Amino acid sequence: CPEEFYCRISQNIENLYNITRIQKAANTDYLTELANRRSFFHDAQLSITGFIKQNKPYCLAMLDLDHFKKVNDSYGHEVGDQVLKVVALYMRKHFGSGLTARLGGEEFAILISGLDEDHLYTKLDDFRRDIAVSTIPVGDEHISVSVSLGAIFDSREDFSKQVSEADNALYFAKENGRNQIAVAGATE
Ligand code: GH3
Ligand code: MG
Ligand code: MG
Repeated sequence: CPEEFYCRISQNIENLYNITRIQKAANTDYLTELANRRSFFHDAQLSITGFIKQNKPYCLAMLDLDHFKKVNDSYGHEVGDQVLKVVALYMRKHFGSGLTARLGGEEFAILISGLDEDHLYTKLDDFRRDIAVSTIPVGDEHISVSVSLGAIFDSREDFSKQVSEADNALYFAKENGRNQIAVAGATE
């Protein structure tokens, strides 16, 4: 009967819409609307396999805001949230064609591919500098923040090993004074 036919079609359309919405929510960070950790780790592994097959230079970078606790302590958690959102905007602006994610807290990740290591490093450093020289307007105030990054280039290691090496490099960038990029393998 036509009525039941149309009813079933519209119900299926609604189900498909709901499935898409739930999938998006499961893969997205609620605050910044960047990819979340789960989605990034899944997509980055696939992308890296592709880059290696095509012999395409790439860079995986872990990022952590510097002294972010001070922002929360001085201006409150809501302002801290606003700062995280602004950092996400900068990530979109600089790495629109790559993968960007908020892994949790004030930690983010980037996967980009490009011409060569120098070009990729310059992209990361332009982003770092852009954040360091900008101020974020919050009410009557202007807040300055900086980020530290740990990067690994063209690695053929296991994905989890690449993540842990980029993390170690990030730790080195922090120890070395923050507001800088440390490259895995160049920090010993
Ligand atoms: P470092 O330069 O060594 O990274 O110092 P830090 O202060 O950034 O690092 P620490 O790990 O001491 O503090 C991180 C802070 O991030 C503490 C926590 O309250 C804050 N934070 C984590 N998640 C969120 C969030 O979703 N919103 C806000 N506003 N703050 C968050
Ligand atoms: Mg941290
Ligand atoms: Mg931090």
